[in-house]
Amino acid sequence: MSAKADLAIRGAVVVSDGAYARDILIRDGRISALVEAGASTAKHEIDARGLLALPGVVDAHVHFNEPGRTDWEGWASGSRAAAAGGTTTVLDMPLNSVPPVLDGASFDLKRAAAERASVVDFALWGGLVDVDPGALRELSERGAVGVKAFLCDSGVPEFPAISDEDLVPALRAAADAGLVVALHCEDEALVREATARVRGTGRSDVGAWPSSRPPLVEVRAVARACAAAREARARIHIVHVSAVEALGAVGAARDMGTDVTAETCPHYLTFDEDDLAGQGAALKCAPPIRDARNRDGLWRALLEGRIDFVASDHSPCSPELKDGADLFAAWGGVAGAQSLLPAVFGGAMARASGAIDVRKVAGFAVWRLSTRPAKRFGLWPRKGAIAPGSDADVVLFDPDREWALDRERSYTRGVDPYVGRSFRGKVVRTLVAGRTVYNELETVTNPARGRFIGRGEVAEG
Ligand SMILES: [Zn+2]
Repeated sequence: MSAKADLAIRGAVVVSDGAYARDILIRDGRISALVEAGASTAKHEIDARGLLALPGVVDAHVHFNEPGRTDWEGWASGSRAAAAGGTTTVLDMPLNSVPPVLDGASFDLKRAAAERASVVDFALWGGLVDVDPGALRELSERGAVGVKAFLCDSGVPEFPAISDEDLVPALRAAADAGLVVALHCEDEALVREATARVRGTGRSDVGAWPSSRPPLVEVRAVARACAAAREARARIHIVHVSAVEALGAVGAARDMGTDVTAETCPHYLTFDEDDLAGQGAALKCAPPIRDARNRDGLWRALLEGRIDFVASDHSPCSPELKDGADLFAAWGGVAGAQSLLPAVFGGAMARASGAIDVRKVAGFAVWRLSTRPAKRFGLWPRKGAIAPGSDADVVLFDPDREWALDRERSYTRGVDPYVGRSFRGKVVRTLVAGRTVYNELETVTNPARGRFIGRGEVAEG
């Protein structure tokens, strides 16, 4: 063995491409070796007996909103919530920060804001609002993981939807720039029609919101996106799939050779229309949370691999924008960065049958929350793996702990709909590049050293 390790994590079961007991040796922020218990020395040690060591979660979809709407959520608060949930890399969306990230200059502003305050490592999405090869080239050269486009109103005026006539040319331009396109798929015309119909009846109950955005809204938009991607020979990613039926078009597109992936979010896997009725605006999002049968269908699709991974779509706002009885007036977005891993691991445990193999369930969570998104966006094997040479992003996780999230330990600035909820499986400690950024037993001081991670050369479909 060469130079002495800076840190050894001892006694955990490592869950990454299999599960095995190994000590993790860390030097200069990277994993230097995985060794038999006791077969090493290190300057510092962490006793992790009884815990699982997971590669840090790669959350492919967050809105930390700084600069511009830091009062909704900023890099300090958002990344702290992420770290407490076992996330070590976030991929931040180009909106609702101001200015939105649409070119090189706005990309640089976002990157600088994150470098000042983020506790976790980060990658950045750019925006795709029209056909501008110059802007796409700037974003690509700076290492954007991809670009995001809306097929319906985005909710903020500074980020327009892509027009019908621009869709195929814009997808083609993104492909030429080497960028995958993340698509918010709701059909604007159907949303308008259904909204007018529902509001016209004078309905103001909570259920009016999902009625104004029925599954058909997603089905039509996803089918259109998939067909347009094939025509443009573009790589696309469908964000926050909520309606199970929309997955049919994704499967058909894959059959036709289109490079398309799909994500869903922890709130669609955790909550149903009864929770929406109970919590109201805290669970308002678009597309909406649907009924229990749909939620269970999403779980089946995730377990079968028809959904590629889960991302939080963490999108809080200032609490007063979640006030009031009119759901149509409230901000649409759910805070979930901190509960992503516990919701998916605990939900998968609850759905496992027979003799439950905890390591297998953890392996499922690792694949769907860390390895798979890291591969999709060109960050693997630096991220998404516990292996020699990978960044030392490690989550120490107690798979047996039952616990409930309380308000003081929810770190988002927004309204957290998971407060009061019970989970199976708890993040005990989170390390980014070998440095502890979250420890359930003590407050970590001055942890903001998150680094920008550019898109790698090779991304997998
Ligand atoms: Zn989003």
